[in-house]
Amino acid sequence: ASKSTSRLLAADNLQNLLDSVDAFLFDCDGVIWKGDELIDGVAQTLDFLRSKGKKLVFVTNNSTKSRRQYAQKFRSVGISVTEDEMFSSSFAAAMFLKVNNFPKDKKVYVIGEEGILEELKLAGFTGLGGPEDGKKTAELKPNHLFEHDKSVGAVVVGLDRYINYYKLQYGTLCIRENPGCLFIATNRDAVGHMTNLQEWPGAGCMVAAICGTTEKEPIVVGKPSTFLMDFLIEKFHISCSRMCMVGDRLDTDILFGQNAGCKTLLVLSGVTNLTTLQDDSNKIIPDYYTSKVSDIFEFMGP
Ligand code: PLP
Ligand code: CA
Repeated sequence: ASKSTSRLLAADNLQNLLDSVDAFLFDCDGVIWKGDELIDGVAQTLDFLRSKGKKLVFVTNNSTKSRRQYAQKFRSVGISVTEDEMFSSSFAAAMFLKVNNFPKDKKVYVIGEEGILEELKLAGFTGLGGPEDGKKTAELKPNHLFEHDKSVGAVVVGLDRYINYYKLQYGTLCIRENPGCLFIATNRDAVGHMTNLQEWPGAGCMVAAICGTTEKEPIVVGKPSTFLMDFLIEKFHISCSRMCMVGDRLDTDILFGQNAGCKTLLVLSGVTNLTTLQDDSNKIIPDYYTSKVSDIFEFMGP
């Protein structure tokens, strides 16, 4: 069988795509912004799609912010997005515990930032750890026993820019000393645009550290897992086949869209270039590709 190929987006097939979907799911980094810098033409394109009656939803693997904080970030760049339209891997972690009836009297140790702690709190869970734990140091003195809270029933690992040896020991002990302890990863992205000019280590390396010490594999709740899709469907009542996932990373965004049965559009404004897309070793083929989100507006706009 011949390998399917991705079609370059153009005015004619874009009209077909617009006719065939009711919702666009946008990945954020590399699509909407790079770090804190909005990508050119995004605001007009989102306005255009909304004017065509399309539902817009934003799905990010970056766990450092909560949905509330993301809605705020959107507002700060002049785009109006509600918390309901925002699906972050921090929210996914809290929802995973909720749907699995994680006991409220157990605690959640977080190797990660404020976004995860806030989502846990909103869902009624008690989070420990987080960025502040970075202020402590592990005491590596003879006869000193590192203590951890035995009521921790889950460890959530996401991007933590304050990662340190203390947290690695804490998370490790929670998992190694309690076989029932859940090990949840918000995502496993290798790198991300923490700033507009450069990629920085992503949550994948923090997750890999705990895989290394525990010899366990995490439950991943962010893309490419379709865990969040149930919440999205419940909220917006749109079937996956009438959605188009727009993303810049093949092994998270495009795979997520394909796993869920959505149409997929790769934009080359982020981490993937045309050479990577068309390389024989790449097995993840989006339905369409284009250079950037604003091409949609360029092709169809007034
Ligand atoms: N993880 C980290 C640490 C990031 O910095 C980013 C992007 O900035 C991501 C993940 C991926 O985010 P998204 O899913 O919005 O591309
Ligand atoms: Ca991305």
